[in-house]
Amino acid sequence: MSASPDATRKQTYEAAKLAKRLRRQVGQAIADFGMIGEGDKVMVCLSGGKDSYTLLDMLLSLQAKAPVRFELVAVNLDQKQPDFPEHVLPHYLAERGVPFHIIEQDTYSVVTRVIPQGKTMCSLCSRMRRGALYQWAADNGITRIALGHHRDDILGTFFLNLFYQGSLKAMPPKLKSDDGRHVVIRPLAYCREDDIAAYAEARAFPIIPCNLCGSQENLQRKVVKRMLADWEKNHPGRAETMFRALGNVAPSQLADRDLFDFRALGARDGAAMADAHAWLAGGDSADDND
Ligand code: SF4
Repeated sequence: MSASPDATRKQTYEAAKLAKRLRRQVGQAIADFGMIGEGDKVMVCLSGGKDSYTLLDMLLSLQAKAPVRFELVAVNLDQKQPDFPEHVLPHYLAERGVPFHIIEQDTYSVVTRVIPQGKTMCSLCSRMRRGALYQWAADNGITRIALGHHRDDILGTFFLNLFYQGSLKAMPPKLKSDDGRHVVIRPLAYCREDDIAAYAEARAFPIIPCNLCGSQENLQRKVVKRMLADWEKNHPGRAETMFRALGNVAPSQLADRDLFDFRALGARDGAAMADAHAWLAGGDSADDND
């Protein structure tokens, strides 16, 4: 049974509202973090998942109205996974008139050879993927590498680091690669995953699943994802509040001595400050043996 005219109108209205919200959030993130400037050549890493299609779509529509001129090129890495539908992306991109390049590199064989069966391959796979994409960027005058991570990826990474690494760090909306050669941007940093999923569905992107290799998502990441989803369900708005916290850090209220000079607090001119060695040595004195 087809939908009534009223239902169709409502659907169209909701889809337009969602697209507008995503465009606004992407535009805001680009402006807040100075992600794209005049003359930039932006490489959009397109995996064929909902996030990267949405990223490309958003950047294309912003490009038409942006206050600065920039180039876009979509790049996909064909990792030679069995059953990878290699015609899907070239067909989609050619139809939309988007400049693109497909890098063909058999990282799949390497990953499956190195990682024992049954273990998660995603970490090595992503590292190799990054290597291939960064190399192409370096060889082709790319000034910005755009990735499709969104707000919930950033929060998930924050909690993974907090719970399992003992560090307060997430995934920045903009960063310089470790070797200093590339500027990586995440224009979807303010976008919710469920909005992106709804948008991808409304736009009927030809999604290519990321588990063709048979690998499973890392267990810890799954646990964190479930935790965040439960929180959001029981306390709507909590994810947004937590995300805001990432941009509202008070180093003097934490305990990182590299970020805040606690020793200098209340220091009096000329008053000696014993170092840790002296304090510990004092703690080992006779009192301990009482
Ligand atoms: S699911 Fe497969 S293709 Fe995707 S990141 Fe993991 S190992 Fe790589």
